[in-house]
Amino acid sequence: MPELPEMEAWRRQLTDPVSAFPIAKAGPAHIATLKTFDPPLQSLEGRRFRGVDRRGKRLLFPTDDGELVLLVHLMTAGRLKSLAAGESGPKTPAFKLEFAGGSKLVLTENARKKRAGVWLLTPAQADEELAHLGPEALGLDARQVGEILQSDSRRLHSLLRDQRAIAGIGRAWANEILHTAKLSPYALSTDLSGEEVARLTDAINSELARGLELRERGASDEKTYRVHNRLGQPCHVCGMPLAQVDFEEHTIYYCPDCQTGGRVLKDRRLSRLLR
Ligand SMILES: [Zn+2]
Repeated sequence: MPELPEMEAWRRQLTDPVSAFPIAKAGPAHIATLKTFDPPLQSLEGRRFRGVDRRGKRLLFPTDDGELVLLVHLMTAGRLKSLAAGESGPKTPAFKLEFAGGSKLVLTENARKKRAGVWLLTPAQADEELAHLGPEALGLDARQVGEILQSDSRRLHSLLRDQRAIAGIGRAWANEILHTAKLSPYALSTDLSGEEVARLTDAINSELARGLELRERGASDEKTYRVHNRLGQPCHVCGMPLAQVDFEEHTIYYCPDCQTGGRVLKDRRLSRLLR
């Protein structure tokens, strides 16, 4: 599940290969992956990308003539790969671009349900597509974080993952950030003290920066995450076993000792059914 650190590492890695040559062939694209038909994908052919931009978890590939933007959202299972000329790639990628000289950019998605998306847009359409996103998560100051927390009374884990509030954080980095901030995933955003807001702000910035640094060096999930996906393993701060709480679509990982005053968080699905 690529989030801000993963996408930013890819952005930096892809900038040179995708802008080195003009696009020779755009497509094919899986029908579920390509979300737009006008402008047609083939209108990319003969143009060159200026580089790669990022907004939240999305990558943007603007053409150097300023007329088109290719927008890519990998969702959970999508992966991008740059292939050198002659290097063999996946047989049926969900999306493929071939550059003059033979290098390629391919998107694969190893999942039954295709959820990753590619949009070819004009710059105005791209702005519209991104308009709902909140400010970039990396680089926020305590005043901005405080305003976001006050804007809606929500559980912290859920608010941090809301792209309309803050762009770039998902399930994994919400777990890492809240653990570093020593805050409960269930704490209400509007209940935080000034000191806690400052701690959360520092944790957002330090954890995303740590993730980016590791991902740029090609670190695996196992090497990168210290809390996420580590049920029962010792907390790296206090040594107590990490806990989890399950939801329909995701799982929160946390340390009861560091984050919730020893309390075990209850799965709230059942209480919702009984209400
Ligand atoms: Zn702990």
